[in-house]
This record gives sequence, structure tokens and C-alpha cells, in this order.
Amino acid sequence: DKIDLNEIVAEVVSNYEFHLRTKGFSHVLSLSEEPLPIEGDKEAIAEVLINLLDNAIKYSTDTKEITVRTVKGNEKAVMTVQDKGIGIPKGDQAQVFEKFFRVSVGDLAQSKGTGLGLSLVKQIIDEHKGDVRLESEPGKGSIFMILFPLLKQ
Ligand code: ATP
Ligand code: MG
Repeated sequence: DKIDLNEIVAEVVSNYEFHLRTKGFSHVLSLSEEPLPIEGDKEAIAEVLINLLDNAIKYSTDTKEITVRTVKGNEKAVMTVQDKGIGIPKGDQAQVFEKFFRVSVGDLAQSKGTGLGLSLVKQIIDEHKGDVRLESEPGKGSIFMILFPLLKQ
């Protein structure tokens, strides 16, 4: 189906607002002014964002700030989820999209999870002929960037 990435992002974030606030998070939502038509499965893309938000919440301890952004790129519809959480060591970044991989940390608060979320994210992105990029620094936070092919409007 032809869908607008901005619509999905706005809907998911608005459904998450209460949850974020309850957990003590502040968040910023910044949507591109122009629509971002892409070919895709709305539910699946919502699932991607939900997984990224879940992680951003789960792996933020001190600074609880999440920014969700969409941008119109060069023939790409771009969605980024940024947190100021614990970050991911360079040596682990390539592996976080693998099934069951979890960064080993001794902290109980981070011990919940199966390590499947990001493998599902990767699978959905692949099915949409998209791309995912990760920038992260331990102690500073992480940015997950998802790029979808933009449809000509
Ligand atoms: P699940 O999503 O299945 O409940 P999970 O969150 O552990 O479990 P993934 O979402 O696949 O699994 O993430 C894999 C690992 O990557 C996590 O265990 C965590 O170590 C690391 N990770 C993912 N997102 C972040 C993030 N935003 N900040 C820091 N580390 C992260
Ligand atoms: Mg997860």
C-alpha cells in the first residue's frame, strides 16, 4: 500500500505519549513538512518504531529524553529515533541486529529482553528495501536511522 511515513510516526508517538510521561521521559517529535509517501505495510512499520521506542526507554537511565524525527532525504524517507541512554559499544554495534544478541551489562534494570526486537526491525526494513544505520556512543546515547525508498508523489 501507499502510506505516509509521517502519519504512522505521528500515530505511534501519540499512542506512546502517556507511557513516556509515566516513565518520566520527555520527548520531541519533529515531522518533515512535506509528506513522505512510501510503499509499505503500516502495521509493520509501526512495529519498527515501537521496538525502537521500547529500546530507547529500556536503555535510558539518567537522561530520559527521546527524539523522533522524520526528514525527506534524497529519494529517501528517513525516520530517526534518538536517545540519551547508555549507548552501545562500537564492537557490539554490528551485532545488535542479530537474533538473540544482547550487549552484556551487569545491571538488572537492563536484564529484561530476548534480543529479538532489532532482528525483527531489520527483517521489516529489508522487506521494505530500506536501510538501517546506527550511531551510538557509550554513556552518550544512540541514534537509529531508518531509510525507506521515497515514492514519487
Ligand atoms: P527484546 O527487544 O526482544 O525485548 P532486547 O531489547 O534485548 O530484547 P533488541 O531490541 O534486539 O533486544 O536489542 C538488542 C540489544 O541491543 C539490546 O539487548 C541492547 O543491549 C542493545 N540496544 C538496543 N537498543 C539500544 C539502545 N537504544 N540503547 C542501548 N542499547 C541498545
Ligand atoms: Mg528491544
